[in-house]
Amino acid sequence: MPFSFANVDGRACLVENESYFDLERISQGAISPDPMRAIAQNDEFREIAASLGSQEKDGIISEVTLCAPIPRPRNSFGVGLNYKDHAEESKMDLPTVPVVFTKYPSCITGPFDDVQLRGDSNDYEAELVVVIGRTTRDLPSNQAWSHIAGLTIGQDISDRDLQLAARPAHFGLGKSRDTYGPTGPLLVSPDSFTDPNDLSITCDVNGDRRQNARTSSLIFDVPFLVSYLSEIMTLEAGDLIFTGTPAGVGMPDRRFLNPGDVITTEIEGIGVMENICR
Ligand code: ZN
Repeated sequence: MPFSFANVDGRACLVENESYFDLERISQGAISPDPMRAIAQNDEFREIAASLGSQEKDGIISEVTLCAPIPRPRNSFGVGLNYKDHAEESKMDLPTVPVVFTKYPSCITGPFDDVQLRGDSNDYEAELVVVIGRTTRDLPSNQAWSHIAGLTIGQDISDRDLQLAARPAHFGLGKSRDTYGPTGPLLVSPDSFTDPNDLSITCDVNGDRRQNARTSSLIFDVPFLVSYLSEIMTLEAGDLIFTGTPAGVGMPDRRFLNPGDVITTEIEGIGVMENICR
């Protein structure tokens, strides 16, 4: 069954339309209230998701604080240069293997949290984020979707001067300052989409459209990335993969983020994130 999962003020919930349902309550305690534990039980709550129509709701999501759906991922991967037009604007050759870096889990924040800017070369990167749903090792790409709990939206906020300060560049540090990983608002199961490989993704800064693409133009698509990483290390439920950003980032013109800027990131079928820079 399709489901939409949210972290409502620290508690695992399912969402239908605008209503949320506390998972521990509607499962009579079978599902953990902790989003990190609950997401590993996604097989169990898929069943419950089918019965939300007969459940009493706990509230409306617009009236509560939505936190990162996966607040403390064990591992969090980033993929660089994974859209052809972004590799070109970065004046880099197209990769022949995925360019993978660590987006340190401590940078993960919620879908409406502020981004606390440091330095003066900070950039936005709208990204589709994959959430692993079960222990995954040596998985063929044609089975990848069945190991994915869902998809969410991410911003891979990047301090460009820091990212490029070392040779070779240390992407991990440049993209992992505190608050540089907004994610959310919902984690949406793959079977909720007509085609989870082809979703519209956009990013606006102060209402000005900067990025506009489809995830079908990823160089290394979601099944490939999951398969590739699973051959290197065991993936576990709640691991995140930031799949890369399309063209339109600020770096080519050094059109960077400033305090007060509002970053709006949207992916078809998942929702909208809004983050204000401070
Ligand atoms: Zn990125």
